[in-house]
Amino acid sequence: MSWHYVENGQQKGPVQDVDIERLIAAGAIGPETLVWREGMADWQAYREVSAPSVRGIPTDTSGARAASAGAFCGQCGRLFAPEDMLRFEGAYVCAACKPAFFQRLKEGSHFATARNYAGFKIRLGAKLIDYVILWVAQMAFALLIAVFFRQASSSTIAAQIPLMLMQLLFAAAYTCWFLVKFGATPGKMACGLKVITAEGGPITFGRALGRHFAEFLSGMILAIGYIMAAFDKEKRSLHDRICNTRVVRA
Ligand SMILES: [Zn+2]
Repeated sequence: MSWHYVENGQQKGPVQDVDIERLIAAGAIGPETLVWREGMADWQAYREVSAPSVRGIPTDTSGARAASAGAFCGQCGRLFAPEDMLRFEGAYVCAACKPAFFQRLKEGSHFATARNYAGFKIRLGAKLIDYVILWVAQMAFALLIAVFFRQASSSTIAAQIPLMLMQLLFAAAYTCWFLVKFGATPGKMACGLKVITAEGGPITFGRALGRHFAEFLSGMILAIGYIMAAFDKEKRSLHDRICNTRVVRA
């Protein structure tokens, strides 16, 4: 079965199943790379095709071989070829995560807690950094709008509502773009944190957006949704529970 994929905005291929593994190892195909093969209605991110639960994709033997071409490290969430990883109790661990993983195992932590979940305090720190970045960006944006609207019209109130909507949209775009692209917002990156799914994979745009709005809920109830992370075994906040995500130390 031959595949096509998109690299730097250009369609590449056809390549065979065996080539896919080589391309993953070379870094040309990652979890977010769009791939297509005959029989698929549309291009899909590689991670969706490699998931067994994808609807509409025949699970013939060649499909099964492609599905085994890559797996996500349960610790850092990056995609690797399975033969480059260690399999432990049904989960994969990549070479880079192996030493820390075994160190934690030796210290007696159970596999469920062997993942290095990020605690409430470091996450609060990351949140504050993101707030400052967003605040500065939004102030600069508001200033630009104010200057523009003063010249265009005398009504500043008319500019307030679209401005607020723009700021909401900007915050959502900031969070989602960074989470999908890097698995972390700049604040989380600065604190060495990463958001992953419960299975250890990267989070999709839909999940990132859902998580962003679920966070409003966490904040609304006197920030109890955030504080929940301090008392959870897997350090989940309310929005982590809603979206089935985890925050780990990258
Ligand atoms: Zn890893």
